Amino acid sequence: MCGIVGVIGPQFASRDVYQALLMLQHRGQDSAGILSVDATRGQFHLHKALGQVANVFTADRIANLPGDCAIGHTRYSTIGAVREGDLQPMAISHPTGVAMVHNGNLSNQDDLRSAPKAKGRMYLSGNDLEDILHSFADSYDPKAATFEGLVRSVKTVFDHAEGGYAVVGALGNEGLFGFRDPHGIRPLLLATRKEADGTRSVALGSETGALKFLGFEIERDIKAGEVIFIPRNGEWKTAVLTDRKPLPCQFEWVYFSSADSSLEGRNVYEARLRLGALLAGKILKESDPNRFDVVVSVPDTSRPAAIGLSERLHIPLREALIKNRYVQRSFILSGSASRSLAVKNKFSVVDELVVGKRVLLVDDSIVRGTTSLKIIELLKQHGAKEVSLASTCPPILHPCFYGIAFPTHEELIASGRTLPQIAKEIRADGIFYTDLNDLKDALGRDDFCDACLTGNYPYPVHGNAPGENS
Ligand code: SF4
Repeated sequence: MCGIVGVIGPQFASRDVYQALLMLQHRGQDSAGILSVDATRGQFHLHKALGQVANVFTADRIANLPGDCAIGHTRYSTIGAVREGDLQPMAISHPTGVAMVHNGNLSNQDDLRSAPKAKGRMYLSGNDLEDILHSFADSYDPKAATFEGLVRSVKTVFDHAEGGYAVVGALGNEGLFGFRDPHGIRPLLLATRKEADGTRSVALGSETGALKFLGFEIERDIKAGEVIFIPRNGEWKTAVLTDRKPLPCQFEWVYFSSADSSLEGRNVYEARLRLGALLAGKILKESDPNRFDVVVSVPDTSRPAAIGLSERLHIPLREALIKNRYVQRSFILSGSASRSLAVKNKFSVVDELVVGKRVLLVDDSIVRGTTSLKIIELLKQHGAKEVSLASTCPPILHPCFYGIAFPTHEELIASGRTLPQIAKEIRADGIFYTDLNDLKDALGRDDFCDACLTGNYPYPVHGNAPGENS
């Protein structure tokens, strides 16, 4: 998963992009990059490096990214290595100069590369954005009118690239563009801001929270299969190029997006609050709430759900787990050793809130179980008498091929295990999962990507998920 943003209009667009990336940092912490379009010199300026946004960019570096149009990226790698060559933005000067950032994964990257490789094409990276970039540029007709050329190239991308992806790009010095895959799995939003001089700036980005922080007003979500072009001066043009069913990723609401963001008209915080209340209803049916003394949330994403759950069960919510803000999100770190270490360093416990208590721990999801096990052990080490776990995401049974690191059936703790077996693995005294129907209720929609829960993949999957051994 990654955070992407593009801005056109302000005198120095990379400053806005930098601020937006800071607000999108939770979507990826491996690397950050900004590319600006310097129309007067006919040049792209680019800086990208490994590390978090605030470390990658200094004031001097941003000063070297002039222009009224810029795109930015903060990365968490699911395809491609964590190395300089795989970082975004990526750009090529042929045929007119195209630069892109993307969020998501292609599920057919190997197929896409096989024919060009057979003809001798060499690739600079393992990143699937390079495949989208090639597909786009190879089919771009510089003689066509700009929007027609753009539509034709995006159609070509849609015809070849399968998977969940949202793209923001700069097309020469003509303007900013963006598109979402035909099912709209990854989010992309359009926003505008009136400047002091009366002009209007336009932004595209992964989350409303980051755009609103910059003073932009949200216009709408880009639709599934839609392409938008925002010229330097003039009105934007859009076209919806497919009629496939919109299937946004459910995990954006459950875990990934910031609580202050809204996707497809549904606020993330409210969705999580509702998930908690619905899960409480399930617990009331399946168990006796008197067996719990206190509800504890795993900070920070599960806090709204824990509030909703605690209110409905009439059990006090206590923030017994204190998070060290300076340790990365464990789920998005690469490798189980670094994840375990991150969990160990990440939380401390307010002993007074858990000693002798029967704790109902609320988390947004249980992926590998590593984090859950460590937290349950930690609470017990600090005196909790019992710890049960409630997950607001239904059991994650299948890998994700579209940009979230649910890599192998073997690694997914819910895959092939019964509830008692899962509870035993993570040393929980009880375990509760949200139902798929309750997830639909909380998100306020019936249609979304739920492939990791049901195995119903909207795009065909080929071979192994990213990171899965053959
Ligand atoms: S498989 Fe799961 S995590 Fe991946 S895009 Fe679909 S809903 Fe999201």
